[in-house]
Amino acid sequence: MFSVSLSPPSHPSMSLLNHSCDPNCVIVFEGRQLLLRSIREIQIGEELTISYIESLMPSSERQKHLKRQYCFECNCLLCQTQEKLCLANGPQRCMT
Ligand SMILES: [Zn+2]
Repeated sequence: MFSVSLSPPSHPSMSLLNHSCDPNCVIVFEGRQLLLRSIREIQIGEELTISYIESLMPSSERQKHLKRQYCFECNCLLCQTQEKLCLANGPQRCMT
């Protein structure tokens, strides 16, 4: 696993990709090339996603960043699951 810091989607190829907090692809820079790499098996017809932000942040932090920087609310599986967990556990336990 490796992480790449992504600036706002200014690169044309990047804006074609949707954000997910549990992405199946990453953008990597190799020299002057911008590469899209899969990080897990992708099913036929599955949407290619990348994470616009640092996925290791708690979901509430991710939502804040995404809203501020990209003006959308993430509704990915990870966020939905974490939201449900938060509701089940109470807000004080909602740290991941
Ligand atoms: Zn998400």
